Amino acid sequence: MTLKMGKHRQLVAQSEIRNMTLECAKVGGVNLAQGVCDLPVPDEVVAGAEEAMRSGFNTYTRYDGLPRFREAIAAKQKRYTGMDVDPDSQVVVSAGATGAFYATCLALLDEGDEVLVFEPYYGYHVTTLASLGVTSVPVVLEPPEWAFTADDLERAITKKTRAILVNTPSNPAGKVFTREELTVIAACAEAHDLFVFTDEIYEHFVFDGREHISPATLPGMARRTITISGLSKVFAVTGWRLGYAVCDPEWALAIGHFSDLVYICAPAPLQVGAARGLERLGPEYYQGISDDHQLKRDLFCQTLEDIGLTPHRPQGAYYTLADVTALPGRTARERAMFLLEKTGVACVPGSAFYSGPTGETLARFCFAKQMDALEDAMTRLRGLQL
Ligand code: PLP
Repeated sequence: MTLKMGKHRQLVAQSEIRNMTLECAKVGGVNLAQGVCDLPVPDEVVAGAEEAMRSGFNTYTRYDGLPRFREAIAAKQKRYTGMDVDPDSQVVVSAGATGAFYATCLALLDEGDEVLVFEPYYGYHVTTLASLGVTSVPVVLEPPEWAFTADDLERAITKKTRAILVNTPSNPAGKVFTREELTVIAACAEAHDLFVFTDEIYEHFVFDGREHISPATLPGMARRTITISGLSKVFAVTGWRLGYAVCDPEWALAIGHFSDLVYICAPAPLQVGAARGLERLGPEYYQGISDDHQLKRDLFCQTLEDIGLTPHRPQGAYYTLADVTALPGRTARERAMFLLEKTGVACVPGSAFYSGPTGETLARFCFAKQMDALEDAMTRLRGLQL
């Protein structure tokens, strides 16, 4: 038998996030590994989807999404980031931000290209690129501010560099890129004629009065920036698979064609539900969940601090990276497994977010849980004898 896997198979293993979720289920623990926000879905969103199913929105939509949903996304983009977006030519609805990013990479990158990726990174970004034969070149962010310099970017650039990947607020560090930092990125992208891919799935979760800034709104950046986001986190509908890319019409057409090829379209009635949510929920809804996450951040980080797993305090999103070197084990995975065995709380080994050894000292915890589940996790953690 000479049957064998394709050459990319070895690059794409089950993610550490899913591994830890399975380990957690085995012991019936509290899963702070996966970024599943288990808050309730807004009534408007559910009612919109339900009504849509009954009134016949059950067939394929246009390849780039239902007009009503694209209009709602364009209006939200204007309202929230100030970006002018034509809903007919600049929005591509896809199967989650994940689908939008994959279609973007398929449309705009070639095998052998390089993309600058800030480290710690979101594993799916790097693996998606790897699956297409694209190399991620790390630009390491230095805690506590997760800082980088223009020189760090310049050093990482080669003739093969095609794009800079931004994730703001970021997973797993919770970094909210400042205007100054985005200006440095923009200058580098202009100087080397690069795309900027920006994953803004956590755009609504920014803490301590910080501001979310979309790189596409910086002067001269509209044409070279692909803005990716989705509804998974903000409406707590990770299983609905609704995301989108917003960009120049030329790129949008190509991204839309690849999204069509892989997904045909995002689920039709769910697009209607999400559109209704975007149309009807006001700023108090978004502020409310952001405040809720901030409160949980404070409680959870204090717990980690008290038990000697010093956390990095996130500026946004809903994860914290904590120093787990106080736990026994040689690797982050061993330490995460120790924690799971002793407390029943699952986290993700930091090695999932780093190409080098730094990740072995860290673990990521997701605090976007219902308060009773989070309290359960905090009580379990406080019982840890180190
Ligand atoms: N992008 C980032 C940075 C994420 O952390 C996640 C989920 O954890 C996603 C994208 C997935 O988004 P979606 O559910 O819209 O595919």
